[in-house]
Amino acid sequence: MAAKVFFTKELNNLAALFDAAQTGKIIKAGELVALKIHFGEPGNQAYLKPDRVKPLVKKVKALGGKPFWTDANTLYHGKRSDTKTHLMTAHNHGYTLNRTGAEVVISSGAPDAAAMLVITHFKGHELTGFGGALKNVGMGCASRAEKLEQHSDCDHCPAKPTCKKKEKLEACWVGSSQVVQKNIIDHAVRVIRHFGGKTAFISFITDVSENCDCYAFNSEPIVPDLGILASCDPIALDQACVDMVNNTAGRIKATDKFKALYPKVDWNIQLQYGAELGLGQRKYELSEI
Ligand code: SF4
Repeated sequence: MAAKVFFTKELNNLAALFDAAQTGKIIKAGELVALKIHFGEPGNQAYLKPDRVKPLVKKVKALGGKPFWTDANTLYHGKRSDTKTHLMTAHNHGYTLNRTGAEVVISSGAPDAAAMLVITHFKGHELTGFGGALKNVGMGCASRAEKLEQHSDCDHCPAKPTCKKKEKLEACWVGSSQVVQKNIIDHAVRVIRHFGGKTAFISFITDVSENCDCYAFNSEPIVPDLGILASCDPIALDQACVDMVNNTAGRIKATDKFKALYPKVDWNIQLQYGAELGLGQRKYELSEI
């Protein structure tokens, strides 16, 4: 049976989408609920804005859950690579208690909560083709050391005998797209298992930039804003998002826009490998609300 993916074209219909996808079933009264998000690097304008996603705080609170926004520090040195500047960035991008109804907690990897709602800005990515829910969990819920592990490929690296990067926690970008995609999925499996099924996924196809929100800039969108999708299956959700972008006319004239952007990257790897590991399935049924 195909996995269910729910969809709305209306960007102000998030609460109804939450209900249609039965997202509330992961929430129990009194329990902490991590709202995993990417706060965007300063200078980037494509990241998810707080006013767009804050209806989720209200929904979680209405069910008795205790929501908080969360992300983990980046490996590269920027304005989200240590907890103090990361908090400042989130604050400057509008993620405040006053504005959204929830606090920000920067975690050291998988957030400490009973359940996790993974809120993703779907966009292109130079290493994985696209950045979707799987990457938001696999890389986004990794500590700096785990991110370094995911980006490296020491067994095939000539620098291995003398390399001190892992001791010093210095960024390494040696891992090929294939290696990194598989490492991301391996970690996503660990994170999702850690939550014992209490995970749900909501992705926004808005401001679909060519690169991820870790850059201090963003490209013009490659397609018009298409809406919001939700599922309890992150593979089906990412597959639905990539199909929707590829099936929509935009400024990149190619059947596969992500392949056209990053010809050396096969984004299918993350979906295929994730499906093999039991994270979900690529076959989905889209229900528009
Ligand atoms: S440069 Fe990266 S891949 Fe090579 S040995 Fe060092 S950490 Fe490993």
